[in-house]
Amino acid sequence: MTFSNSDMQSDRRHFLVQSARIAALTALAAAFPAATIARTSWYPFRLGVASGSPQPTGIVLWTRIVSEPSNPQPPASAAVTVRWEIAEDDGFRRLAAKGDATALPELAFSVHVDVNGLQPDRWYWYRFMLGDAVSPVGRTRTAPPADALPSSLRFAFASCQHWEFGQYAAHRHIAAAAPDLVVFLGDYIYEWGPYDEAHPAAVRRTGESVTLAEYRARYAQYKTDPHLQAAHHAAPWIVTWDDHEVANDYGNDRDERLDPNFLARRTAAYQAFYEHMPVRLPALPAGANRFAHMRIYDRHDWGRLARFHVLDTRQYRSHHACPKPGRGGSNSVTDAQCAERLAPERTLLGTDQEAWLANGFASSQAKWNILAQQTLMAQATQIPIAKPGDGRFWTDGWDGYPVARRRLFEDLIKYRPANPIAISGDVHTFYAADLKRDFNQQVSAGNPVVAAEFCGTSITSSSRPQSRTDQYVAQNPHMKYGCSDRRGFVMMEVTPARTLARFQGLDDVARADSGVSTLASFMVEDGKPGIVRT
Ligand code: FE
Ligand code: CA
Repeated sequence: MTFSNSDMQSDRRHFLVQSARIAALTALAAAFPAATIARTSWYPFRLGVASGSPQPTGIVLWTRIVSEPSNPQPPASAAVTVRWEIAEDDGFRRLAAKGDATALPELAFSVHVDVNGLQPDRWYWYRFMLGDAVSPVGRTRTAPPADALPSSLRFAFASCQHWEFGQYAAHRHIAAAAPDLVVFLGDYIYEWGPYDEAHPAAVRRTGESVTLAEYRARYAQYKTDPHLQAAHHAAPWIVTWDDHEVANDYGNDRDERLDPNFLARRTAAYQAFYEHMPVRLPALPAGANRFAHMRIYDRHDWGRLARFHVLDTRQYRSHHACPKPGRGGSNSVTDAQCAERLAPERTLLGTDQEAWLANGFASSQAKWNILAQQTLMAQATQIPIAKPGDGRFWTDGWDGYPVARRRLFEDLIKYRPANPIAISGDVHTFYAADLKRDFNQQVSAGNPVVAAEFCGTSITSSSRPQSRTDQYVAQNPHMKYGCSDRRGFVMMEVTPARTLARFQGLDDVARADSGVSTLASFMVEDGKPGIVRT
């Protein structure tokens, strides 16, 4: 799929012209000692603001100071003090809290404020100030109290926003929907620029990010987009990552090129992720590089209505089964070609996260248990299955880890968290599916539907032809719907009695002003696992 740059970039060009004008002023600003910044000749909040990881009384506020997004020079020579405010009204007349935060050069002048002491279950407005510059105002909210059963939760979920593949109209529509929450499931950036589809294994794709400076530059580029900023300014986000925040098809400490320096690259990528996301870092002992490993899997409760089990399927997984000769990363294999795929010790989450997830199931008081995770959980054979052992499977997703998937399903049966629903991204296709213990057998008392799955399409990233997706749906009868020729997001509405999923498809991803429409809607009723098309 190709687009003309001149059509696609019109909304973003205005910004770039402005940037060039201001760039000349930045060298001057860098000469000022940080502590005395009273005025800047540049606007420091060009990447917008964000909030995330909502708790009943706390929220993380984020911004990053840049003198000019495409300028890799630091905006100051030392740490900068940034003021922040959070208020009960958008006019900031009733302040709930305010303070100073330090933007450190070693964290790219990013700011993370973990605000506490807020009221549960209410909206707030926040902003940052540096000198006489005031940031855009972000709207955010806290989660309901732990023991409350709210009447509804509306959230959007999305993934996969390759900059070069379209405009972020989907984010404009997410902002317009004014959800309580946005859940982002990975591929927030892609580590490369435009690339040649005919030679995807080229040693280094165009402008590929490898160093910390390169990852920072790519986040800065993506975050200049006004529609992406609007979606951040509209609601708190819960985020996890997938492969492209680091490198295509990486697994654990191995990338597809078997780069011996991959862990250094991963460390840089994890740091850049932290620097650009409204997330809490667990306190870590000083000394070791705190980004060599970074725990991002986490639980978020929305009172007793919903529990989000946010997973990390990249950092701890067993290496890909049966990669192509001399490579790491994914492959498509049959059981005859690859017995390794079925090995019982293989894990997608890692031992610790598997145990943590089982604990989260066992302890959950929530009506709905949302598995917020990267990739399609439903089995997706690429060829028809006539008898056991048939099928061909892509090894990067859950199909590369079928025994681990079965363990997860057994834990759902054993610990009985109410109404599990998996939400997924990565495959750039809308799917709605019933998840069952054994995908190759009919549903029965011994082979129950254990959960529903809704997989979102991409914000922009391209996918396979619809005719191929139709074959997937036909060959995988637990899939009730598949759509790969539209970009967009999913709107979820959770109430105690039922959850609705609405697949939102853009008319034209190349247009920032694209319309959106509901392509299909599905319902899951309380106590009745499995999806119903509405
Ligand atoms: Fe993707
Ligand atoms: Ca991916």
